[in-house]
Amino acid sequence: MTRNQKLKYARAVLLMQDRIALKYQKDIKRELKLTASQLAESYRINQSTVEYPQIQSDHQKRITEILLKLAKETSDKFKVFTLNAKKDMFSNYVENGIYNMLAANVLTTASTVSANTIAIASVVIMQSMRESVDKPKNSQPDVIAKNISKRVGGQYSVSRAMTIARTETHKAANTAQYQRASVAAQESELEVVVEWISTNDGRVRDDHKHADGQTRPIGQPFNVGGELLMYPSDPKGSAANVINCRCVLGYDTK
Ligand SMILES: [Zn+2]
Repeated sequence: MTRNQKLKYARAVLLMQDRIALKYQKDIKRELKLTASQLAESYRINQSTVEYPQIQSDHQKRITEILLKLAKETSDKFKVFTLNAKKDMFSNYVENGIYNMLAANVLTTASTVSANTIAIASVVIMQSMRESVDKPKNSQPDVIAKNISKRVGGQYSVSRAMTIARTETHKAANTAQYQRASVAAQESELEVVVEWISTNDGRVRDDHKHADGQTRPIGQPFNVGGELLMYPSDPKGSAANVINCRCVLGYDTK
């Protein structure tokens, strides 16, 4: 494949991911707004964060549901990008295994996302209290509630929802593709080679630019800025190496 063909492939992959991400961004945004209003209302009534653990737990459950749907849809859509694996009796077993991996990733993400939502609200409360030294109005529960609602559910929730949707779609797509290709390689005894393709869309990290064009036999990790990643958005990677990554993996046989 020429460089242009690789980029064309990578863009097709990203376009498909972006379509899914855009769809789920709306659900995530709605969820953030809902939680924002619950946090605000609860603070206004109780004048404390006493109900926040319960709100966080409900928020986490709903985020998990949304992200499980996202992961399932992404995994299904990306079956078309799979190597010509032989249809066989193991495929259900393989798909179940992939779904379990995706579900485990989702649980980790949902736990982080819900904890972050509460942390953002808590920062708003602390800031308002600090500012109330100069502006006494800022310690009023109504004012704080409004600030929580604005900060957690307002304009910021749009970009936050987009980041979550994109990162999770990217992770699910790469995990599903990689697992299917690994199984196909094992069963067919084909030598599958994977190539890191950085799409150079202006937001690419230097470490990911350096990984561009590197190839590995499937099952061998890439070294990306000192971290060993099997594929872009490998769930084992650090957040700094994964969030908003736009790299794509190319699959080829020797
Ligand atoms: Zn990347």
